[in-house]
Amino acid sequence: ATHDHLFKLLIIGDSGVGKSSILLRFCDDEFNEKQASTIGVDFKTKFMQVRGKKLKLALWDTAGQERFRTLTSSYYRGAQGIILCYDCTQRSTFDHVKFWQDEVRRYSTNQDAILMLVSNKVDLPDQQVSRTEGEEFAFAQSMMFIETSAKTRQGIKQAFEEVVFKILDT
Ligand code: GDP
Ligand code: MG
Repeated sequence: ATHDHLFKLLIIGDSGVGKSSILLRFCDDEFNEKQASTIGVDFKTKFMQVRGKKLKLALWDTAGQERFRTLTSSYYRGAQGIILCYDCTQRSTFDHVKFWQDEVRRYSTNQDAILMLVSNKVDLPDQQVSRTEGEEFAFAQSMMFIETSAKTRQGIKQAFEEVVFKILDT
């Protein structure tokens, strides 16, 4: 076999928060400042070596459907890990995290799915959501939390590693 484990991971959150950029950084170590709102990538695979095991990650992005809030059950089905992103420079994207949690509750078939709340774009000044606020919200909602920048690489690899460790331990 090419791998010991196959995990399905989703990335969700409002349009423009940096979901596709996070996947592009994680998978290809690239970043586009003028990233088109849709880069046409809606599925990527990534191999990872963790604790002596070879993991194959199936990473599901959206091709812009999140704009119309039309992600449905087939997108969520069977996901072991869900990365829920907001943009710390856009308060509204943090306020909408509750909406995305409702979607997960409605559509996710896996009650044990691991949720990681991601505060992206921490490289930018003029942040509208503090680290503490994000962290406290995540804690209250039993989600993991990390600050990331797809631009500088901060937290990107760690975000996926922590989700994968938690899945392996669950
Ligand atoms: P998506 O709609 O959630 O997939 O968001 P995109 O990945 O398309 O990113 C939207 C815009 O934000 C693009 O112009 C990206 O270059 C930019 N962007 C994404 N992540 C970051 C980041 O961490 N820092 C900065 N400064 N810009 C980012
Ligand atoms: Mg996108």
